[in-house]
Amino acid sequence: MRLDSRAVHAGREPRARDPLAPPIVQTSVYVFDDLEDYDAVADGRRPGHLYARNSNENVAMLEAAVADLEGAEAGLATASGMAAISAAVSTFAPRPAPVVAAADTYGSTLGLLRQDLAPLGYELRVVDTGDLEAVERALTGAALLLCETITNPLCRVTDLEAICRLGAAHGVPVLVDNTFASPLLCRPLEAGAAAVVHSATKYIGGHSDLVAGVLVGDRALVERARARVIRNGACLGPFEAWLAVRGLRTLHLRMRRHSDNALCLARHLDGRPGVRVVHHPLLENSPYFEVASRLLPHGSGGMFALDLAGGREAVQTMLRRLRLVRFAASLGGVETTVSYPDLTSHRSLPPEERLARGITPGTVRISTGLEDPEDLAEDLTQAIREAP
Ligand SMILES: *Cc1c(COP(=O)(O)O)cnc(C)c1O
Repeated sequence: MRLDSRAVHAGREPRARDPLAPPIVQTSVYVFDDLEDYDAVADGRRPGHLYARNSNENVAMLEAAVADLEGAEAGLATASGMAAISAAVSTFAPRPAPVVAAADTYGSTLGLLRQDLAPLGYELRVVDTGDLEAVERALTGAALLLCETITNPLCRVTDLEAICRLGAAHGVPVLVDNTFASPLLCRPLEAGAAAVVHSATKYIGGHSDLVAGVLVGDRALVERARARVIRNGACLGPFEAWLAVRGLRTLHLRMRRHSDNALCLARHLDGRPGVRVVHHPLLENSPYFEVASRLLPHGSGGMFALDLAGGREAVQTMLRRLRLVRFAASLGGVETTVSYPDLTSHRSLPPEERLARGITPGTVRISTGLEDPEDLAEDLTQAIREAP
């Protein structure tokens, strides 16, 4: 089956007289006939589930569906994207070791490395993944390289093929956070990544109504990560898994419309009075145009950023004037939202570091939803206008 059909069917094969839609199996525990029956399921000789911290039908369906779309052997669903990243890092690097991370990695991921893992003896090596020589230098003796397909908030596109080639040459596995692209637009395992993580809170769920994470990769790695999550308890509940699968059934349609709407808005806003820069990797003037066109041939999703010439004041005015678009610090939903990295995702960074990364007091991040693009263009244009 092709990708669009897999989005609709992956993870589920109803048999005769089964309900067409998956039931929510809302239970903490399962019953058994006798010791031999329990033992067979616990050993994996018989299919089934024991206890919801270990596994559950809805959670297993989400795991199978995302693994299918990413072209992976196996998947593990977790309580959040951060739980998936945490499980992945500690599975690749179970003991203190050097970990290489892209400089513009999601703020909480850097927080996990800096605040939780560095004190345990992990050495954090932060690199600009656009500088392949710096990446190569950082790889010596590293246990893992962590990067993102499309970065937050400036939507820089990582050359995953080049990074994975370097990783392979140095024997360092590459873990890719593919949240912004989704498996419909990019499948990092095909570029040579060892594993992929998602905040399913964003595009996979797609409706701003759940928090969940998924890790996919080869079976041995995923099973080691699963054993950790069973011990540390960062498991996903059945209802969140059910919602995420329900969202995933339309991922292909949504990603196409998110991508079209975002590029349309980025083109509309580029060069307008009051707009200093539009950061969208598929604008012809973007430094990431070539790599984005190669890595993301079907679009780059709904995310882009604006740098308003008037700084924080202009952002404040824009937020007060917006009628349709709302200020909310997440992304990937059906409704268009704006976020302000200085106060939200990048709040913990010192101002100099934010500026060094290209995030100014005028930077706003836009998560383009599924509305009519003309309504979005009208709302943003009236909100950004310089006249009072
Ligand atoms: C939101 C996000 C995360 C964290 O996911 P949660 O589901 O909020 O834990 C990680 N990486 C990226 C790129 C994200 O956008």
